[in-house]
Amino acid sequence: MNQSQKRIAVLGSTGSIGTQTLDVVRRNADRFRVVALAAGHDSDAFQEQMAEFQPALSATGDAATPEGLAHIAGSPDVDTVVLAIPGLAALAPALAAIKEGKTLAFASKEILVVAGELVMSEVARTGAALLPVDSEHSALWQCLAGEPKEAISRLILTASGGPFYARDDAELESVTPEEALAHPTWRMGPKVTIDSATLMNKALEVIEARWLYDVGYDQIDVMIHRQSINHSMVEFTNGMLKAQLSMPDMRLPIQYALAYPERIERPSDWRELDYSIDHTFEALERGRFPCFWLAVDAARSGKTYPAVLNAADEIAVELFLSGAISFTSIPSLIMVALDAHTPVSRPTLDDLLAADMWARDHVRDSAKAR
Ligand code: MG
Repeated sequence: MNQSQKRIAVLGSTGSIGTQTLDVVRRNADRFRVVALAAGHDSDAFQEQMAEFQPALSATGDAATPEGLAHIAGSPDVDTVVLAIPGLAALAPALAAIKEGKTLAFASKEILVVAGELVMSEVARTGAALLPVDSEHSALWQCLAGEPKEAISRLILTASGGPFYARDDAELESVTPEEALAHPTWRMGPKVTIDSATLMNKALEVIEARWLYDVGYDQIDVMIHRQSINHSMVEFTNGMLKAQLSMPDMRLPIQYALAYPERIERPSDWRELDYSIDHTFEALERGRFPCFWLAVDAARSGKTYPAVLNAADEIAVELFLSGAISFTSIPSLIMVALDAHTPVSRPTLDDLLAADMWARDHVRDSAKAR
């Protein structure tokens, strides 16, 4: 084995981010070596990955519990953990990697949405590197490089607006899961695709940015940018803006996080920026996309509200995808859970997990009662 190779663990290896991570590794075998693979379900795809990369560590099916994943993430044989598993299951492996001071390239934004304060205080304590894979946060990271914190005026996250941006609210009642799963610019897993259609994903990204870059919610704005070419911007106090542009391709931010602080050669099938595309920007109206606004309000309320928000959304999306509820019931079920919740101030990990469990049950019960 080449001593200079980074030893990578990919948690969530069969998902969209996981397979694109393996594509980056495959093309840069001199730099990266896969030493661990984990996926929630055993599958032919997972077995093919195992045969190709022959990692020393793996977990799938019954072994892919938070404890099993945490064991891999904290292993002394791993340098960089790529965290790309959906839901709160990502928290235990994230904390295990951070505790050991590792590099954590994360796509699982739940770790900051639910436990931002806890995770960031652990990062500060251990000196671990928490690197975003999310395209918006990768853009912000690059724009902020070398800039003093006090010079930041605001972070501007761009949002594609999802497949329903042009529809009026009355038309959304009858939206089907198939329509909602057809995202205009990005190919992603089903949960994040529905979250992109409701704009919940953008609110979760606002929360992620708040913790990652330690700025207040008043300093974070969202602009609708349908073309997904400008991945986010930073406005500075001197009136200047920096932006990061590229054609949408998740392998670019994945590769940036894996290779950091180096910039390595782009993938050979990379697409050059199409300069003929018009760039448009629109503010997000307060009356539209209720998921976005109720999520930002829950984030501002803090305590255990973001944990309830995250869990309630997960279950509401699951119910929508199974055909049990309508698209417009997603925000109303989340709102009912947030209203009914008794929050806990300065929550511990156990408080957050309890709020998560409570919210799941609450949303399932209120959906049944309708
Ligand atoms: Mg994103």
